[in-house]
Amino acid sequence: MNLASPITSVPGIGPAFAKKLARLQVFTVFDLIYHLPFRYEDRSRIYRAASVQPGETVTLVGTLDKVTNTFTRRGKNLQTANFTDASGSLPVIWFNQSFLSRTLTPGSRVALYGKIDFFSRRPALISPEYELMTGQPFIHMGRLVPIYPETLGLSSKWLRTKIFSLLHQLDLTDYFPPPPEFLSLQSALTRIHFPDQLDQVAPARHRLAFDELFLLHLTALLRRAAWLKTKLTHPFAVDNTAVAGFISSLPFALTLSQKQAITEILSDLSLPHPANRLLEGDVGSGKTVVAAVAAYVSYLNGFQTLFLAPTQILAVQHRETLSSMFTPFGIDVGLITSQSKAKTVQSKFKIVVGTHALLSKKIEFDRVGLVVIDEQHRFGVAQRALATQTGRSPHILTMTATPIPRTIALTLYGDLDLSWLEFSPAGRLPVKTWVVPEAKRQAAYRWLAGQISDLPAGRQAFIVCPFIDDSETLSSVRSATSEFQRLQDIFPQFRLGLLHGRLKSAEKTAVIDAFRAGQTQILVSTPVVEVGIDVPNAAVIVIEAADRFGLAQLHQLRGRVGRSSHQSYCLLFSETPDTARLKALETHHSGRQLAEIDLRLRGPGQIYGTAQHGSSQFKVAAFSDLDIIATAKTNAQHLLPRLSDYPVLLSLIKDDKINIVQPN
Ligand code: ADP
Ligand code: MG
Repeated sequence: MNLASPITSVPGIGPAFAKKLARLQVFTVFDLIYHLPFRYEDRSRIYRAASVQPGETVTLVGTLDKVTNTFTRRGKNLQTANFTDASGSLPVIWFNQSFLSRTLTPGSRVALYGKIDFFSRRPALISPEYELMTGQPFIHMGRLVPIYPETLGLSSKWLRTKIFSLLHQLDLTDYFPPPPEFLSLQSALTRIHFPDQLDQVAPARHRLAFDELFLLHLTALLRRAAWLKTKLTHPFAVDNTAVAGFISSLPFALTLSQKQAITEILSDLSLPHPANRLLEGDVGSGKTVVAAVAAYVSYLNGFQTLFLAPTQILAVQHRETLSSMFTPFGIDVGLITSQSKAKTVQSKFKIVVGTHALLSKKIEFDRVGLVVIDEQHRFGVAQRALATQTGRSPHILTMTATPIPRTIALTLYGDLDLSWLEFSPAGRLPVKTWVVPEAKRQAAYRWLAGQISDLPAGRQAFIVCPFIDDSETLSSVRSATSEFQRLQDIFPQFRLGLLHGRLKSAEKTAVIDAFRAGQTQILVSTPVVEVGIDVPNAAVIVIEAADRFGLAQLHQLRGRVGRSSHQSYCLLFSETPDTARLKALETHHSGRQLAEIDLRLRGPGQIYGTAQHGSSQFKVAAFSDLDIIATAKTNAQHLLPRLSDYPVLLSLIKDDKINIVQPN
């Protein structure tokens, strides 16, 4: 048994337990030993039975007499016993655990941990956890005890027992040389599971975070090396004159950042191996047109470009944007929806837009030379699917507005090349942002009405609510459907639209189209508008219960306005009077800065947490571990050429434990 062994090779873990462990994402010995406690319970102080007080949670060590099964008059099943230590004795009560009378035989020497409370008007120890004394040191008592993420049928006690014995059975010698400032693997793992003192936990975490980032980076380097070996049979030629012609046909001049990103991408495309680039840029920084230029080059080389958007709404929008750019060149842009008949789309269109969901469908493509993946945060998944689907090695351009600092992005996606749109298009005014107290709501509505009817053009507005429907438990939170009703009375002079995730996709498209065409002036919506919707005439966004969103998400929502030269506004209503965090949006307009503020105010994990971006691939490490990230990176680079000297390390990487981009 070693770290890479399947979990069923652990004594006492058969298929049934393996199934339960899978729910905790534990499949191998490695996974179990890295199933880390999220807190510790201090059971180190041993109390005396004679001096315990009701309300206290205590550890006691002593002897139990016979455990008796009884039923109360109301039919409850009770187990009672008497506990004795040198100081005195105390009744112990359990509920519905009749097996205890078999495990705890009279005279059992035990440690118990639980709460003292009154039972039949006398202090008793209620439903304690127990551990039999075996002559060995306690695992569950008399110490700092780790508490783990649990699942039905797998308690912390069970996990603790298994992990404790694994720590003693496994060879945990370092399988690669860590930098000297870190603990050995053996002590890091021992201390994170069973610390003697709480202050031992942080250094242990650092070592494990280092490992995680190191493995991640090493894997990325390996994949990059493999991908550089993939040769394309038809490298692209870049016709600079034609590209310049395309760019000058656009209704605006490109920003410096856009020009630079285009140069980087086009130079990728002319290499004899597939490009794999991540284009990062704040909301509204103009990523779409950068991808369009690449698509044009792909077209000129006789290849199809596949443009993937996260939602149907965005796919439709991209098709329109791209059509307006490509129609002058006689290029039709196709749209594949879940209803499309695959065959008709394949060869006719040189540029095809669809949703990520497309990847799961059996659609055969003609000759895909470039795949553009928009607003995709789980890069690896999509790209692996693409590799099997197109059967070739297309160039891949992934775009995201997730504000990941450059150093972090390079580590996380170390096998991607990175372009960053630093500047937003000129002439954009920062979106004026106010946190609005409830008392000023009516005044805010009057002001909003003024904005919308401002002649001659009149702006449009989004009103975003966190939920679709009213909730019984959160009655104070405004829902999109009930706001939609209410606001129609408040703004009888305007036409309102309602957009949420439960609408059928044709309905969604109709709602967005009406808004885009100016037929509706106010779009009441759930955060489905968050990603990428581009309606330049929309200049006001009102966000209800703004405190329920992270700053990064609010920044994304705010990015729906300020997409033209009009002054735009963002009004934030909050349920809680504590608006310090929201106030940051009044003064900061950069996604990266806001991400850092959120990191400070809410702690790591929140911003980039699974809920928002689906990219929490870390168990231990955090994006805020900047020093560790840097160290892990240099160490991975150094070790790469000597990787074959470290067989265990190699086996762990081969195991594909780390879920990141698989280019082509
Ligand atoms: P995002 O980076 O958020 O995907 P988009 O590509 O949707 O941004 O661009 C946002 C808006 O800015 C679009 O309406 C687009 O036409 C416009 N735009 C893009 N580049 C420029 C530019 N250089 N100058 C002016 N407007 C631009
Ligand atoms: Mg976009």
